[in-house]
Amino acid sequence: MKLPFLDLKAANQGHQKAIQDAIKRVVDSGWFVLGNELAMFESEFATYCNAKHCVGVGNGLDAIILILKAMEIGPGDEVIVPANTFIATWLAVQQCGAVPVPVEPVASTYNIDPTRIEASISDQTKAIIAVHLYGQPADMQAINVVAKKNGLKVIEDAAQAHGALYRGQRVGSLADAAAFSFYPGKNLGAMGDGGAVVTNDSGIAEKLVKLRNYGSNAKYQHDVAGVNSRLDEIQAAVLRVKLRYLDDHNRQRNELAEIYKSTLADNPLITLPDVAGDLLPVWHLFVIRLSNREKLQQILSEKGIETSIHYPVPAHLSGAFRAQYKHTKMPLTEKLSGEVLSLPLFPNALSCYRAEIEKMLSLISSYKNI
Ligand SMILES: *Cc1c(COP(=O)(O)O)cnc(C)c1O
Repeated sequence: MKLPFLDLKAANQGHQKAIQDAIKRVVDSGWFVLGNELAMFESEFATYCNAKHCVGVGNGLDAIILILKAMEIGPGDEVIVPANTFIATWLAVQQCGAVPVPVEPVASTYNIDPTRIEASISDQTKAIIAVHLYGQPADMQAINVVAKKNGLKVIEDAAQAHGALYRGQRVGSLADAAAFSFYPGKNLGAMGDGGAVVTNDSGIAEKLVKLRNYGSNAKYQHDVAGVNSRLDEIQAAVLRVKLRYLDDHNRQRNELAEIYKSTLADNPLITLPDVAGDLLPVWHLFVIRLSNREKLQQILSEKGIETSIHYPVPAHLSGAFRAQYKHTKMPLTEKLSGEVLSLPLFPNALSCYRAEIEKMLSLISSYKNI
């Protein structure tokens, strides 16, 4: 049998019936946007993140954009972003009219290096977006210290890290506001697009409730220039079911990650991801590093084992940004983008694909760079 990089059918195994019942409940209710399911999910997810407020929105990109708008960040402003991230983090800043200013990562954790942030701060800088990349929390304490010293807001991009713990505290409650994505492949995934903003700041939450709904929280009363970006009732009902399984799914991801780490530690050609002290990552992705990764990828692919690359082109070199950033050099990010390789990892992978996973591990363990 083949080993897919991600099998969402396997991941949702065991609660299809509960999901179908939730969808039916919405269909039977005849109410599809801004209703009870959303209100319940918002309350349940805020509680899960140990935060005061959750506001559902259309997707993770909009969650970041609307946080920036609520903070009144726009043209003339700069926002610090990780050089090493999914392009959405940068696009959100650009779509507000502000300029993303990239900062290099720590090589061993792939997350933004707090010691390099200060050198990139200017008079125009308004905020820092910290991404919990691949499911590992960024070093929030160090980031918050730099932000406080320089009067900056801090936003968590938690799209890859639902449930991760930073020094015992859930991501989503570690800064001024946090953006989540519920894209189907994320740790907490809907059956379509979805996103949310989580915050302890009542002012931001109130603004978000309007911004996502044409600038209105009372019919035909439009206080600000908002957008249409709402988490619909069917997605909210599905997410309420899936939230109940999130901890178990994350535990399964962790179990597989531990197997990967212990089995692959012996191959000197492979660099394993490092977890900084006192963190509990949720392994959205398991990313190894090696030179000549295309060769390993091909060996695995010939045996029906799918791998992936996150991300092959850094944002500043992508077509969307390279004209503006032609003088920007991010040597570490550029090097990582040429070496990273993501291994299959998803809930129920071990119960559905144990033999294939063992085959993959023995192929990687014996891989020689010749
Ligand atoms: C997925 C993702 C987003 C965007 O989420 P969408 O729901 O796809 O818009 C933003 N940031 C990061 C780091 C992501 O992985």
